[in-house]
Amino acid sequence: MDSFVVIGAGQAGGRAVEALRASGFTGRVDLVGAEPHFPYERPPLSKELLADDGAPFELIHDEAWYEERDITLHLGTPVTAINRDTKRITVGESGSLAYDKLLLTTGGAARHLNIEGTKLPGVHYLRTIEDSREISAMLREGGHIVVVGGGFIGLEIAASARQRGCAVTVLEVASRLMGRALPLEIGEVFAVLHRENGADIQLETGIERIEGTAHVERAITSNGSAIEASGVVIGVGIMPETTLAADAGLAVENGIVVDEFCRTSDPAIYAAGDVTNHTNPFVGRRLRLESWQNAQNQAIAAAQNMNGANTPFKEVPWFWSDQFGVNLQMCGAPDVWDNTVARGDLAARDGLLFQRVGEKIVGATGLNRPRDMRFIKRLMTAGKTPTAAQLADEDIGFRDLLK
Ligand SMILES: Cc1cc2nc3c(=O)[nH]c(=O)nc-3n(C[C@H](O)[C@H](O)[C@H](O)COP(=O)(O)OP(=O)(O)OC[C@H]3O[C@@H](n4cnc5c(N)ncnc54)[C@H](O)[C@@H]3O)c2cc1C
Repeated sequence: MDSFVVIGAGQAGGRAVEALRASGFTGRVDLVGAEPHFPYERPPLSKELLADDGAPFELIHDEAWYEERDITLHLGTPVTAINRDTKRITVGESGSLAYDKLLLTTGGAARHLNIEGTKLPGVHYLRTIEDSREISAMLREGGHIVVVGGGFIGLEIAASARQRGCAVTVLEVASRLMGRALPLEIGEVFAVLHRENGADIQLETGIERIEGTAHVERAITSNGSAIEASGVVIGVGIMPETTLAADAGLAVENGIVVDEFCRTSDPAIYAAGDVTNHTNPFVGRRLRLESWQNAQNQAIAAAQNMNGANTPFKEVPWFWSDQFGVNLQMCGAPDVWDNTVARGDLAARDGLLFQRVGEKIVGATGLNRPRDMRFIKRLMTAGKTPTAAQLADEDIGFRDLLK
């Protein structure tokens, strides 16, 4: 009987063990996770769970679900080594497990800032449910939260904090918000949205240090100003958790390098989720995605391939964010922004912006257009090349462009 082991009990790990059983694998399945919880999804941590401190924390599945499927969980126990010669992993201090095939879904950890004051009570990063609960506890009416980083997570924290009655200052070193993933036009719409809702958005401004005695008291910015703060949340991206893979001699380069079947440089070891550096045929290059969709669907593909499916994983990347009731969705992963077509009214937060290379759509962002985005993803998957005039014309339905 084969034994498959999954390391990392986050979203990808949880979905992978589910897919192993769904694809008919009847051998032994072990899921080993450093966190003490059954797998859960992270998007609510910066949204519902911060905006409303009574919102329930939900797991992907409860304990009984894993028991019914004969999936053995080892929680709160990090894997410390992979021995590829003996095909055994070391769990915690001294435990060990044998594997025939191994899946790495070790995700990422919040990138830490190397500045003075980050160890002070009241300074937080956000990756886990514990982080979210600690941040939630400091979102009190009358507080002043300084958010470092104007990316998706920083801005979601800012929106949630405003909704809880806190004053908010966002410090962003770049000249625009969400600039790593989105075009300038969208960043500008969100700067207006946040300012309308009372957040102080400071662009081209970094954090120099954090000051306080027993607790954070103020943030000193790169232009020398001091902002009184009851809390600081740092959201400056993540670092992929590749140590285990690198120590085992697997190919690692901004993530664990995998092929289109989610296989690492060792054919018995697969990887999926935030930790992978994979080729995306729609984007036309290697990339590492940090998204719910990739965590779920790449993990399912990896599990199916471990069980013999041999199906390449290929999907148009897709991501969403919710801030002050505005639903933002984007698909594709463009790295050029100069050829854009707008549809609808972006300033009114009801529209779409396409990025193209020639006639090819390489990216699209929708503001409060979830239904359109479903069709646009299909257009991009099918490789359709509507003209700029067709994309801009609200009277032409995307369903028609798919025909
Ligand atoms: C606050 C927040 C909000 C988000 N919002 C959105 C959103 O709106 N839309 C969207 O598309 N995406 C969103 N994301 C991103 C999405 O949640 C991630 O892409 C997804 O969680 C990645 O899943 P993963 O399983 O690959 O990695 P992770 O979620 O990082 O899970 C990896 C797990 O592996 C464990 N692990 C690591 N090393 C070891 C080891 N050596 N031994 C055992 N276990 C180990 C970790 O403890 C962790 O539990 C958000 C993320 C965060 C943090």
